[in-house]
Amino acid sequence: MTIINENSFKGYSGNALEVLKKFKAPVWSEVELITAKGSYKGLILPRSETADNLHIVLKMPVGYNIGIAARSIVDIKINGFKEAHYKIPEKEFPYDENKPNVKLLGTGGTIASRLDYRTGAVIPAFSPGELYGSVPELADYCNLHTEKLYGVFSENMGPEQWIGTAKAIGKEIENGAHGIVIGHGTDVMHHTSAILSFMVQNSPVPIVMVGSQRSSDRPSSDAALNLIHAVKTAAESDIAEVMVCMFGPTSDQYGLLHRGTRVRKMHSSYRSTFRTIGDIPIAKVDRESITPLRKDYKKRRKDKNVEINAVFEEKVSIVYYYPNMQPDIIDSLIDNGYKGIVIAGTGLGHVNKPAYAALKRAQEKNVAVYMTVQTLWGYVQMYVYETGREMLQLGVVPAANMLPEVAYVKLGWALGQTGDLEKVKEIMLTPVAGETTEREPSNGYLIYQGGLPEVEEFISKYRK
Ligand code: ASP
Repeated sequence: MTIINENSFKGYSGNALEVLKKFKAPVWSEVELITAKGSYKGLILPRSETADNLHIVLKMPVGYNIGIAARSIVDIKINGFKEAHYKIPEKEFPYDENKPNVKLLGTGGTIASRLDYRTGAVIPAFSPGELYGSVPELADYCNLHTEKLYGVFSENMGPEQWIGTAKAIGKEIENGAHGIVIGHGTDVMHHTSAILSFMVQNSPVPIVMVGSQRSSDRPSSDAALNLIHAVKTAAESDIAEVMVCMFGPTSDQYGLLHRGTRVRKMHSSYRSTFRTIGDIPIAKVDRESITPLRKDYKKRRKDKNVEINAVFEEKVSIVYYYPNMQPDIIDSLIDNGYKGIVIAGTGLGHVNKPAYAALKRAQEKNVAVYMTVQTLWGYVQMYVYETGREMLQLGVVPAANMLPEVAYVKLGWALGQTGDLEKVKEIMLTPVAGETTEREPSNGYLIYQGGLPEVEEFISKYRK
C-alpha cells in the first residue's frame, strides 16, 4: 500500500475518524479526496485492526489500496456509497449425471483469496459454494467437487504439502475423478507442478494446476477465467499430464497449458506470467476449445491406475552462483548435512575456481552435486571448457536442460528414494515427465519475444 503523507495542513488533529466525520464521509463512501498534492478517487475502506488512525485507506478503481494522511485532506467530495460484501453468496453446485466429475483440490494462494476488510489483507479462503456463486460457468463443463487441502500462500508449500497433495490426487483418481484441478499460489506453482510430475506418474486423467495473479475482488482479476480454463481442461481434454493453466497473452484471449516440468513464473505481476521454458506449451485453451500445440503428450485413459511415489529428502539445496561466490557457501551446506546440491551455474554451467576445493569435499562426503544453467534456455555443456571438465572430475553431474528448480525438486525426490548416488544419478538422468528433452525448439525460445516477424508468424498459426 502506498502512503501519501503530507503534513502541511496543521488544522486537524490528524485523526482519520474526525476528518471523515467533519466531511460527513462514512466508510464505504465513493469519494474524491482533495489534498494539496492532488486528488484521489476511490472507496473509503474501514480501518484495519493493525493500521494507525492517522490515515484514510482508499481503494482505487485499479484495485490497489493507498493510505492518505488524514491531516493532508482539504476536502472530500462524496460520489456514492457501496455496500460491503464480506461473503460471496454460497450456491449449491448443480449435479448432472452426464457431465464428468472434476475434483478441485485447494491449497491456497490468491486464487482462493478475497480481500479481508477486517485486516485489509488478502487472505486465503476456500469454499466450494463460494466458487460456484462467483463463477457459475464452471457448471457448464462438469460436476465440480471441492476439497480444501491447505490454505497457504505458495511460499509455504513444501515437502509436507507436496506429499499430501500427491496422495490426495492418487485417492481422487482411484475414486474415479475424470480430472483434477489444483488451486495454488502462483509464486512457486512451478516447483509444485514439477514435484507432482515426479510423485504422480502415469495418471489416466488431466491434473491441472491453476492460480491467479490478481485477487477476485479486482476488476482485472484473472481468477475466474483461469479457473474456467482449468476446469474445462480437467473435464474435457485428453492430456493426462500435470499441467499449469494460466493466461497465455497479456489480454484474456486464451490460456496456455504448460507441461509441469517445463514451466516457470517469469513476471512478478503480469497475468501472463507463466511461460514454457526450453520447449513450447502443450496446448491453448479458451471457453470453447482446447487446441494442442504438440502431439507428444500422454493421453487420457479409462482405467483408474496411477503410481504415487510421494517421498522427499529435505536436505537438498539450490545454489545460484554469482561472481566472487565464496567456497564457504558450499562448505556450510556440507557441514550442515546436506545430501544434495543443485548449482545454477553461469553460461554452459560454470562456477569459479575457488569453489573447486569445496566441490571436492562434497564428493568425498558423498553429497550429490548437479549442474544446471542460469540462462534457463539451453543445455549444460561441461566438455567445452577446461573448467567444466575439471568439475566433472569432481563429481559434478550435468543435468542437461533441466530447469534449476526442477532439478532441485527432482534431486529431493531421488534422494528420498535412495542414498546410493549411482541410483540417484540414474533417476536424475532418466526423464520422467519431459524435464529434460533431446532438443529445444527455436520457435519456443522466440515465443512472445516482442513483435519479431518470425514470432508473429509462429503465433498466427494458432490464432483464430
Ligand atoms: N503470494 C501468492 C502465492 O503465491 C501469489 C499468488 O497466489 O499469485 O501464494
